[in-house]
This record gives sequence, C-alpha cells and structure tokens, in this order.
Amino acid sequence: MPAHKSVKLNTGAEMPTLGLGTWRSQPGAVERAVAHALKHGYRHIDTATAYGNEKEVGEGIKQSGVPREQIFLTTKLNNPDQRNVASALDASLKALDTPYLDLWLMHWPCPMTKEGGADKERDWRDTWRDMEKVYKEHPEKVKAIGVSNFSVSYLQELLKFATVVPAVNQIESHPLCLQEDIVEECRKHGIAVTAYSPLGSDQAPLLEKPVVKKLAEKYKVAPSNILISLQANRPGVTVIPKSVTPHRIEENAIIVDLTEEDIKALFELEKENHTRFCKPYWTGWGNIGFPDLD
Ligand code: NDP
Repeated sequence: MPAHKSVKLNTGAEMPTLGLGTWRSQPGAVERAVAHALKHGYRHIDTATAYGNEKEVGEGIKQSGVPREQIFLTTKLNNPDQRNVASALDASLKALDTPYLDLWLMHWPCPMTKEGGADKERDWRDTWRDMEKVYKEHPEKVKAIGVSNFSVSYLQELLKFATVVPAVNQIESHPLCLQEDIVEECRKHGIAVTAYSPLGSDQAPLLEKPVVKKLAEKYKVAPSNILISLQANRPGVTVIPKSVTPHRIEENAIIVDLTEEDIKALFELEKENHTRFCKPYWTGWGNIGFPDLD
C-alpha cells in the first residue's frame, strides 16, 4: 500500500491517511518533529489548542520548507472556548501563523469554564451551530469542520439538526478500543474517521502485544507499523501516531496491506480486554460521562 494514500472527505478534499500527532509534544521538540515528519513525506499534521503547541507546530511547518498548500493541517476548538467560537478560530490561525485550517474539530462535546469545570449553561449543539456559521461565512479560514470524541448517540443527535455534516469524527481507536460501531455509523453518513492513540498512547504499550509482534515479524516491519496499518486498512479511516523521535517518525510511515485474517487476529484482542487510554477527568475518568442527551 502506498504510504500516502488519502481519504476523500465529504467536502471533496483529500485527507492524507497518515498524519503526525502532537499531543504531549513539547515546545522545543515539536517544531523539530513536525519539520522532520514533513521532510520525510508526511503531509498531515494534527494539533489542538489544548496541546499548547500551535505556535511551535506552525514554526515546524515553516522550518520544513514544504509549502503550506501541500499540508493538511488540523486543530481543535478547546472546551473552554465553546462560547467564543469565532475568536477561538482566529486565535488558532494566529498561533499557527496560517491563513486557513484544512480541518477544525470540536475537541469534545463538553463545554467547560475557564476554571476547568463543566459549563452547564452552554449546549454543545450551539457550539456546532457557531462552527457551521464561521465555516459558511469564512470559507477562506476553514476548509472543513468536524467533531472529536463523538459516540454513536452523539452523532445521531448532531445529525438531527446539523446543516453541515461533519467531515471527520476523530476518536480513540486501537486493538483494545476499536470503536467499530462509531466507524460504521460514520461510514453510513459519509463522515471520515481519524483514529487517535493508535499505539495505545503514552509509551505505546500495545507494541508489546504478542500478536502485534508476530505480525511485525511476518511483514518484516516494526510493531508500530502493524498498529498504524490496521487503521490505514480500514476504509474511510485516517491515523495520527505521535512521536517526537526522528527515527520513529520515519519508521511509522511504513504502511503494509494486512490480510483479513491478520485484521481478525488484531480485532480479537479487544474481546479479552477492552481498554480506553484517553480518559480526561471531565468524562468521568473512563465512563465518558458526557452531558446528557435530552
Ligand atoms: P500514540 O498512540 O500515537 O502513542 C504515542 C507514544 O508512542 C509516545 O510515547 C511515542 O514516544 C511512542 N511511539 C511513537 N512511535 C513509536 C515507535 N515507532 N516505537 C516506539 N514507541 C513509539 O498516542 P497519542 O495519544 O499521542 O495519540 C496520537 C495523536 O492523536 C495525539 O498526539 C493527538 O494528536 C491525537 N489525539 C487526539 C485526542 C482527541 O481527543 N481528539 C486524544 C488523544 C490523542 P515518543 O514521542 O517519545 O517517540
């Protein structure tokens, strides 16, 4: 499989299947990681206002020498900015020092106060309406809008009133938390999925799984390539492994064609042990206790 195939979004734009994640990529390291990735063929970078590194991601893009129009750049609306959608977009554009985003996501359907508590007076549905407004009024600033961490019921709720179908839903996905139900719901509505934490997040614990190691031997690649390829082999799915380590950034760009049997073996892991690695406190530490849908 070519390392840089892409997924067509419902806007008509092509989103490169492989991107570089930048959560917990610190200023100082992240510029180098972004520039290194772009010099080695990556054309898709994922950041978020919440990561506190948009400025440095923008600097990495410049350092790479790759023209902006060749790069697919995603950032995300921070939970405490849900009341100030238009100004939050401008702040992201300024920090990234770019005239436009290729994709802007609602990071979580969880409005928060600046102090970090739940903002119970704000409805995430109004946040989506405000994102639609900015997207329609300023196509020069944002090429596509989407969501992140939306379950099937949240997506169904969104689609009841949305006038713009999200281009993407970015969700946790790896062999211990595949979220195939969400992927299928997205496919049904022409929404692409981006799989985050494909290696199991910090310290990449899934690289140690025996079935992952066995498949790595079979294909003569690194275990990370099996986990990244699993996502890249799912129709309509893109994947954003994070690394600040130059040789890993290069290594992660190898994507192999897995057989149906290999994919089945990887899908078996979740039956033994379902694990979600990304459990921020406002989701109820793992129970994903989002605001009620009523
Ligand atoms: P990943 O699953 O991408 O794993 C990152 C970890 O794996 C780091 O510790 C990294 O170390 C290590 N690693 C990377 N490549 C290799 C390799 N080849 N061999 C060994 N270790 C390796 O975790 P993330 O949680 O960061 O997810 C990826 C991205 O998804 C994020 O960075 C972010 O952009 C996005 N994301 C989005 C969320 C959302 O709510 N929308 C939530 C979580 C993530 P090192 O860097 O030291 O090399």
